[in-house]
Amino acid sequence: MEPMEPQIETEVPAKESQPDPGAFSSSAEPAHQERRKRARRTWETPPAPVPAPRLDDYRGIVGAADIDELRFLAQELKGKTVKMVNSTAVGGGVAEMLNQLVPLLNEVEVQTNWEVITGGNDFFEVTKAFHNALQGSDYQLTQHARDIFLMHNEQNRQRVQFSEDVVVIHDPQPAALIRARQQSPQRWVWRCHIDLSSPNPEVWGFLRPFIEQYDAAIFSSQSFTRQLAIPQYLFYPCIDPLSEKNKDLEDSFVQQVCDEFGIDRSRPIVTQVSRFDRAKDPVGVVYAFKQARKYVDCQLVLAGGGASDDPEGAAVLKEVKEAAGEDPDIIILDLPPWCALEINALQRASTLVVQKSIREGFGLTVTEALWKGKPTIAGAVGGIPNQIIHKLTGVLVHSVEGCAYQIRYLLTHPDFAKQLGQNGREHVRENFLMTTNVLRWLLLFRILRAGGAS
Ligand code: UDP
Repeated sequence: MEPMEPQIETEVPAKESQPDPGAFSSSAEPAHQERRKRARRTWETPPAPVPAPRLDDYRGIVGAADIDELRFLAQELKGKTVKMVNSTAVGGGVAEMLNQLVPLLNEVEVQTNWEVITGGNDFFEVTKAFHNALQGSDYQLTQHARDIFLMHNEQNRQRVQFSEDVVVIHDPQPAALIRARQQSPQRWVWRCHIDLSSPNPEVWGFLRPFIEQYDAAIFSSQSFTRQLAIPQYLFYPCIDPLSEKNKDLEDSFVQQVCDEFGIDRSRPIVTQVSRFDRAKDPVGVVYAFKQARKYVDCQLVLAGGGASDDPEGAAVLKEVKEAAGEDPDIIILDLPPWCALEINALQRASTLVVQKSIREGFGLTVTEALWKGKPTIAGAVGGIPNQIIHKLTGVLVHSVEGCAYQIRYLLTHPDFAKQLGQNGREHVRENFLMTTNVLRWLLLFRILRAGGAS
């Protein structure tokens, strides 16, 4: 979290929330807790899987010509095989994207499978530390950490077959699998989803020799790249407008979700959806909210969960609860990973969306909020400035105070806020939808097949 002015820590909100009389029983519990107890908790069990969209389903969103172009580009790749490898099947933006991308590539007959590496807590603690260090955190790389990293990569190398035409390794966790590389013409690509612009030199020095054995590296933003001896490509991440997370919803469902979680739709709702991770600064969001709420009525929803590769999640959630205290207008939701529809509904119910990250990869939650036409306030880090053009498609902030100011400003200037939301949606339609992502992969596979990028 960023340093704050002392008065923020000791402040007493000037405006106390007005409880909804209808929602209270004789209990002294806050309204939202009381309502949640009575609610039907449909989100507690995983929903039945939804069939993946077909390419033609996107025609109404991006136009027929774009879809025809994808099919045309894929013709030359029919029967080629691809393996995608990452470190988690649920939680986090990479898993989210692979869930949508893999079926679409298979539909155009690029045979793509998805492998999730295995590892114990020791491995995920090391890779989490690497992840943070590569995005600028202090870290002392030890021989023990190197050994853990290499040992689990080696175990996965022995467990998994790598016989495809193209192997795509996502992020640093499985990067040392490049040791499984077979002789040409097999191609290996490293897809880096994080911001490598100022990495911890020791960790980067350790990983770099692995990365430079790949045929190409892909980054999510121009500003994330390093000088490398291999070709580099820019792929913006994307969202799927037809997924449970992003499809249009009936308002009655949005209302039902708000009722289940004790959210009052008659008052402004400010929401951050994020894993409970310090990089997302949820504690900073609580302070910004408390500061803004001195001047303007609103509720804060912090919706998140712990990704399966994130051992810090529980500790951060505790810090957030402590910062929130007993404030009845702060609703903290620790959701299981299958709650895409609920997240969608929460984003749609929001008056404003906040993503006050202090480090970020691309920030898919920002893309999701913009696609829903929501005025969005986000930290000017990672790939967020690619999405939020300040005061045009949203607003960028650099501090707790800046975030508080923008919450207050946008809640009191609804016409401006609405225009930001509309612009944001168009920006996403043009640049950050799944169909554009499929196009980029097909083009890259064609380049690799033609002998490029090596
Ligand atoms: N997400 C979710 N449940 C949560 C928290 C996040 O489904 O409790 C989703 C969120 O909607 C987004 C993704 O996880 O699709 C997070 O991607 P992002 O790039 O914002 O951050 P990451 O977690 O990858 O750092």
